[in-house]
Amino acid sequence: MTSTTSGPEGGGATELTRLTASELAARLASGEVSAVEVTRAHLDRVEAVEPAVGAFLHVDRREALEAARRADEDRAAGRAVSPLAGVPLALKDVFTTTDMPTTCGSKMLEGWVPPYDSTVAARLREAGVVILGKTNMDEFAMGSSTENSAFGATHNPWDLERVPGGSGGGSSAALAAFEAPLAIGTDTGGSIRQPAAVTGTVGVKPTYGGVSRYGLVAFSSSLDQGGPCGRTVLDAAMLHEVIAGHDPMDSTSIDAPVPGVTAAAKEGAAGDLRGVRVGVVREFSGEGYQRGVLDSFRTAVETLTELGAEVVEVSCPHFEYALGAYYLIAPSECSSNLARFDAMRYGLRVGDDGDRSTEEVMSLTREQGFGAEVKRRIMLGTYALSSGYYDAYYGQAQKVRTLVSRDFAAAFERVDVLVSPTTPTTAFRIGERADDPMAMYLADLCTIPSNLAGNAAMSVPSGLAAEDGLPVGLQIMAPAMADERLYRVGAAYEAARNAAAGGALIDRVPQLEVAR
Ligand code: GLN
Repeated sequence: MTSTTSGPEGGGATELTRLTASELAARLASGEVSAVEVTRAHLDRVEAVEPAVGAFLHVDRREALEAARRADEDRAAGRAVSPLAGVPLALKDVFTTTDMPTTCGSKMLEGWVPPYDSTVAARLREAGVVILGKTNMDEFAMGSSTENSAFGATHNPWDLERVPGGSGGGSSAALAAFEAPLAIGTDTGGSIRQPAAVTGTVGVKPTYGGVSRYGLVAFSSSLDQGGPCGRTVLDAAMLHEVIAGHDPMDSTSIDAPVPGVTAAAKEGAAGDLRGVRVGVVREFSGEGYQRGVLDSFRTAVETLTELGAEVVEVSCPHFEYALGAYYLIAPSECSSNLARFDAMRYGLRVGDDGDRSTEEVMSLTREQGFGAEVKRRIMLGTYALSSGYYDAYYGQAQKVRTLVSRDFAAAFERVDVLVSPTTPTTAFRIGERADDPMAMYLADLCTIPSNLAGNAAMSVPSGLAAEDGLPVGLQIMAPAMADERLYRVGAAYEAARNAAAGGALIDRVPQLEVAR
């Protein structure tokens, strides 16, 4: 990516915020810039655009500059540092951090500062990555627009009237607004890939178990997966290698070497996909999909063919039922996970005035602490798990989950990766789907199967839709433990698309110098 376009505002500190993480890493390594300079430039950018974007819930200028200073010191002292040491990052507010609050976008946890760091945060710190702050999200990661945050919506930098996707809209908006070159998200049903698609950025859901869930506040434990977000495939790969790897603190963490995703991204960028078999998922196109999304997808498939890939159509007949199964499994697990917010152990406590019973305090707290969508999920999940209904709902959904996994297994006997649009539409308007849960749920139609199967998947920018000029994403899906395939194909596609379009998509994002 040639992202040195500095825009009308010109060079200096602003130019640093236009660089990719790998470009910043090279300049930091050569000593051309310091981590403190890089961090300060990003903090200034955050200050300038946050009134319009609202990507962050918490920014810690002092701590960020302190971390940058340490990275500079380590480098100067010749201590072995990670390639990303000194590069700034935006962290989704669902990972615990000892030096900043962790709210999950909920009033329930407002102001809660956890007593321990999540493994992801700890690994970022160890690598010298500079955490700028915590990003906005749908409450407890339930949603597709970030409108379910108790602390207000985040605006899509491509069009401030539109949503940045969700639940990790803050992380993706921060990337698209050039507030941070790297971000971390979590993907339970699409919350990394869907926001990436609608903000013209890259987002990866690693294989389930590839990135530790220790200190990731649980929504649906059998689906939740942290992963890297960036403006380029290579940046996401470099970040992937920092956060991935076995963690004894997470019993579902994979005990195997971290996949060589950076090498795969570099290999892919050479643009040769000969010998790679790509399956187009027949079920993910047609009715209900925006025209520009389908056009972009057709062009993407042509590009993959031109790069030498062997493209075939593949049918995954049970993907059609994945959304329905997800909306039983995820709420069921959430109803159990969120029971811990009982007014006793964490955060909010309402009505504890000595006159009320413990039960009254619990119920008042949960009534006032949770937003409407979280309550809907808890009720749905409690119902699906209740005696007499368990087999008909939860049990049935688990069977569908198995059938979806079998569809993938059959497809991956024939092809190396599957592709589809990441989302059926581009970013919708703020408020447009807020009162229609079903319309909101449909945003994750294409992303959910990979979560149910525990597979790896990526969204990579795929141009702008002709009718609204908004970003579209291409989804690439790989089998579990084959994350490197995403990076090889994603990087090849990115390079070819950038070459055809005369530059990276993200460089066409409107300038946001003027606060609204
Ligand atoms: N939008 C989906 C939901 O609301 C997925 C969320 C996620 O991946 N965290 O559940």
